[in-house]
Amino acid sequence: MSSACRKNVLISEPQLMEMGIPYLPVMWGILKTSWERLGPGGDDVIWLPPIHRMGDAASLLSAYGDTPIHVLGLSCYTWNWRLQLQIAQQVRARHPDCLIIAGGPEPDYKDPAFFAQYPYIDMIAVKDGEITFNRILERVLARGDARGLPEDRPLFLDVPGLYLPGPDGSAHLCTGPAEVPSVFEHSPYLAQSAYYEELRRTLSSNVIAVWETNRGCPYRCSFCDWGSATMSKLRLFDMARLEAEIEWFGRTKIGFIMLADANFGILPRDLTLLDRVVAANEKFGYPTYFSYNTAKNNPERTVAIAKKLIGSGLSSAHVLSIQHTNEDVLAATERANISITKQIKVVRELMADDIPIYVQLIMGIPGDTYETWKSCFTDLMEWGIHGHYWVFPYNLLPNAPAAEAQYRERWKIRTLERYVLLNHGLRMLGPIDPVLEAKSRLIVETSTFSRADWVKMSAYAACIKALHNCAVTQSIAVYMRFTHDVPYARFYEDLIEGFFAGAEPSRDWYQAVLAHHQRYLDEEDAIDFMAIPQLPDFPYRIDPGRWIFVQIGFAIDAFFEALREHLVRRYPAAVILESLVAYQKNLIVLPSYDRQRGKVFVTDHDWPAYFAETQQLLVPALLPEPAPTPGAVIAVGDQTWSDERMTRPLDWTAGSEDERWARWIHATVTGRNSNRKNNFQELRRLSSGVIPSDPSAKPRRLPITR
Ligand code: SF4
Repeated sequence: MSSACRKNVLISEPQLMEMGIPYLPVMWGILKTSWERLGPGGDDVIWLPPIHRMGDAASLLSAYGDTPIHVLGLSCYTWNWRLQLQIAQQVRARHPDCLIIAGGPEPDYKDPAFFAQYPYIDMIAVKDGEITFNRILERVLARGDARGLPEDRPLFLDVPGLYLPGPDGSAHLCTGPAEVPSVFEHSPYLAQSAYYEELRRTLSSNVIAVWETNRGCPYRCSFCDWGSATMSKLRLFDMARLEAEIEWFGRTKIGFIMLADANFGILPRDLTLLDRVVAANEKFGYPTYFSYNTAKNNPERTVAIAKKLIGSGLSSAHVLSIQHTNEDVLAATERANISITKQIKVVRELMADDIPIYVQLIMGIPGDTYETWKSCFTDLMEWGIHGHYWVFPYNLLPNAPAAEAQYRERWKIRTLERYVLLNHGLRMLGPIDPVLEAKSRLIVETSTFSRADWVKMSAYAACIKALHNCAVTQSIAVYMRFTHDVPYARFYEDLIEGFFAGAEPSRDWYQAVLAHHQRYLDEEDAIDFMAIPQLPDFPYRIDPGRWIFVQIGFAIDAFFEALREHLVRRYPAAVILESLVAYQKNLIVLPSYDRQRGKVFVTDHDWPAYFAETQQLLVPALLPEPAPTPGAVIAVGDQTWSDERMTRPLDWTAGSEDERWARWIHATVTGRNSNRKNNFQELRRLSSGVIPSDPSAKPRRLPITR
């Protein structure tokens, strides 16, 4: 074929960076490898270097200069959709005969108005793209002349898996179910290793490789669009290919493996694969980090995987994708066949091994209510999980089952498009880039909760995160549960609604958080982060739960005095509660702490021994009151905090008062919140109130609670 007939193909798959680490462009590798190994291959198709970073569309395209682009493939996700639209528009303006194909979970192929709304997109490819893309390229090459290609719809009518504009230009037509591969012998990373290894050399110290070992998922959670491959049989990748990829990851110094499988641990061979990854880490020093989605109904394997990963240092915590604890809510989201009992079994075994757990929850599931949402947190406490609860708003993906008209109608779903910026709890002040920062379609109202409920649910979540996850009242809740048989649900309902929302000084914070969430609903460009008024020069906003925690820090005496008054009045039978409130207040790591000097405080009960015992008990059991220790002096000697296999100094004393607060926020308020991080851990009882002068005297660590 003459060079004039060759076709240039550009794949655009801009990715957000994860913790500042870039991704290798995997979709380009998959499509190119499929063309070369399973399609006709040859040099008639020229694969241009892909777009794989977020950025300004014009600058990203300027890298291609005057090179004609004949086919543009867009891999579209919520986070890159707006940028992909700009890229498509600019390519169409510059190369009117370029065929533009959108794939990935974001294009709403069910919407008959799609092509009228985005006239510069010529077709949508659904499900796995490899075979479909090969068929498209075959037809483009066979046609030869590229002129008028986007209008030549009949050319593609026999390519299954496409949605095309209808003849009248608005209604769309489907070419039938996509052909999906069943054999996966060829690795994109190995087949295109020259490109990836060169890219690896030019990228920063670390990169992320997305890795697949199978496709498909046997479940059909209504919020999920797993490449349209949910509720489908697993299709396994070739084992020899996977082992070769692991070796390549190690040899090429790929630091971060992001496993894209829906349920790692669903197959016995997953343990073997993990052993190979650990062996690569031992041999090459890479990969250094492995993230994955856990299998939902295979507790033994899930626990074995978590222990292996954490033991080898390839992971620092287990992510429990629970979404909600209420069986009816889970049934409404089609997760009823994912067993809560099995998830609890996993939790217990991991806790027995002291493995930190992140719990993923979704707020706004149809079927949820303010009451069931509240109990979701306290169920987790009853299971023994007190660390970080990771709350995500319900993002209605356009092709997820929940987006179907019937489901939306059944639950009376209403959505709003809002920015969802996670950023580990902090967001730099300054304007939002509407192209590079994605908006999501959030469910803010259903037949079971109103928008006003959504606001209250958000505020309740923020209070729980501040009070319990940040360990402001965690030990008090544990004591009331273990010794006075007050369920966590009753304790927090009273604490938040009966005290926090109504008493000074917390009433103002509660109102501020309510107003913040209301504004988030009312204002199109609002973000879910709050400025700290006490620190006008602090260049960040923080999320509402952490914002409350910081406010408590600024008003620690007034807050604990009000808390003491309330609890003593509310629980008269708990006669030593006052002692615990004072003890808990002393445990909170605050900017006033100077690790050079440590601190001492007095307590009249043996709370350290009491909480050492609760920590051994994974489930609540009735415990007697702690022993009296009149006048006992506790010395705090913490120099660092340690959580998630990470140790960081408690060091913020230099500089002005505001700088000290800013450093404390960075050191202890952002990231995972937990008792281990936000409460002192190195406690010892002195015989007198004097800290020993021997600096080598090592404090004995008295565990408190998780
Ligand atoms: S959320 Fe996970 S388990 Fe549920 S359908 Fe999606 S991929 Fe499968």
